[in-house]
Amino acid sequence: MTVALPKLALFGVGLIGGSVALALKQAGAVGEVVGVGRSTANLEDAIKLGIIDRIAADAADAVRDADVVLLAVPVGQMAGIMQTIAPHLAAHAIVTDAGSTKQDVAALMQQHLGAHLAYCVPAHPIAGAELSGASAARADLYQSRNLVLTPLAATHPDAIARVTAMWQACGANISRMSAAEHDAIFAAVSHLPHLLAFALVDMIAQRDNADQLFGFAASGFRDFTRIAGSSPEMWRDIALANQPALLAELDAYQAQLDKLREALANLDSAALNQVFSNAQQARQNWAARITD
Ligand code: NAD
Repeated sequence: MTVALPKLALFGVGLIGGSVALALKQAGAVGEVVGVGRSTANLEDAIKLGIIDRIAADAADAVRDADVVLLAVPVGQMAGIMQTIAPHLAAHAIVTDAGSTKQDVAALMQQHLGAHLAYCVPAHPIAGAELSGASAARADLYQSRNLVLTPLAATHPDAIARVTAMWQACGANISRMSAAEHDAIFAAVSHLPHLLAFALVDMIAQRDNADQLFGFAASGFRDFTRIAGSSPEMWRDIALANQPALLAELDAYQAQLDKLREALANLDSAALNQVFSNAQQARQNWAARITD
């Protein structure tokens, strides 16, 4: 049987990249998966877990004859990798990524992969967890989840079709939008919530009575702060890469907090009730939608 993707070069064999490899293997949609990483221990785990077939000797070895090069590393690492692989890419190799921000990745592709732009396909899977590393990878991570493509003006339709087919083989539903629209949306519904969760846990941890506070923290605290268990490097890079959109969301949230503070200071029960009721209704509607 011929597989759709004979060789995948995977830079970053963590939760996101590892889950792509497992899903493609389970679907019989990939031949060899060659891994590149920073940690030998993690890459050796990935071999034991059947995520990758071998560890690349170096970046040139990884991309040699690769049909698809998938960059699944923190977005702050993308520039260095693009620079390193550019001279070694096969003529028709697709370069795609899984980064959580898209305008920065698109700009880096323009800067470092100028001769290869027709085959560059920025992408972001809307699935994940607060866990990291190869051991967190799961074959079903992308099943029925959204995958957003933000193709460049120069991206060839065949390259988009190949990346679409790769993610469909992982079980994902494909959407398309501009990189700017993507970054504005995810600043609001993903990047801001992560910033807030990190801020709250850090604030509590700095208190003199932190032990006592954590000792009494229960399910509300757990649910609000789950994502503060995420990789600091990954979220530092996302915040910096999406700085303008994230600052705008932070300002909007600050204005909302000011409004709530004023209502509380004035013991304005109607104002508090209005915000809480609107939020409860919107949260219930959203929850019903995502469990469909
Ligand atoms: P992860 O920490 O589980 O995996 C990233 C891997 O990349 C690590 O094994 C790390 O050692 C490796 N790495 C770092 N720098 C490298 C380099 N220069 N060369 C080779 N390997 C390198 O993180 P993850 O959750 O898989 O995230 C990967 C990407 O996916 C990030 O860009 C992130 O923004 C994006 N993403 C994450 C989620 C999520 O919920 N975790 C969701 C969607 C997209």
